[in-house]
Amino acid sequence: MNNQEKVSSYCNICHHETNHELAHRIHRIKREGPFDFGSVDFETIWEVLQCKGCEEVTLVRYDWNSESMGEEPKRTYFPPRASRRKPSWMDQDQLTIPAEYLELLGEVYIALHADSRRLAAMGIRALIDAIIRTHVGEQNNFKEGISALYSKQFISSRGQEIIENAVEVGHAANHRGYKPSVKDMGIFMDIVENLIHNILLHEQSSKIKSRIPKRVRQQ
Ligand SMILES: [Zn+2]
Repeated sequence: MNNQEKVSSYCNICHHETNHELAHRIHRIKREGPFDFGSVDFETIWEVLQCKGCEEVTLVRYDWNSESMGEEPKRTYFPPRASRRKPSWMDQDQLTIPAEYLELLGEVYIALHADSRRLAAMGIRALIDAIIRTHVGEQNNFKEGISALYSKQFISSRGQEIIENAVEVGHAANHRGYKPSVKDMGIFMDIVENLIHNILLHEQSSKIKSRIPKRVRQQ
């Protein structure tokens, strides 16, 4: 083991490849056989990596065997690269988050944790549907719903386009078997988390405004 070794690896918190410190490495070899053609060695290396930017720790497992000549070892991340933590504002008492949002978001995080990106994309689409129903009522379709969010000033015109794209990804995952990349999945999670946070802050600020005593005009 070499504690000084540096490794470039994906970081779930930084959302891109970063320099990591190799904190620990375990190397195991298991021999199976003999078979007709001889024995096969199955090798596994475990690496505990710490991001030098945000200090997040990741476990990476490399698997290969003596028959897979010339092939790259299979690399598995724990937690998966698509996995992410829920934002800290979700645990704060200041914002009242509708139960339906929390349940759907919870299932999306579980899907990402299992690297089930198609399911997560479908969940994001269901979440946007719930947001539309809650804030602007039932609409004929997503386009009208997102347009209604814009009309009621919950989102900007730029936000309208971004959310339409996120819905389209969910639609493609549902009907065309499309699997978003890890990077794109991170962007769509940013979009839906920001949408919910902005809408809840918008509501919260309206309540605060209603509690402020009105100015009395000086005669
Ligand atoms: Zn990091």
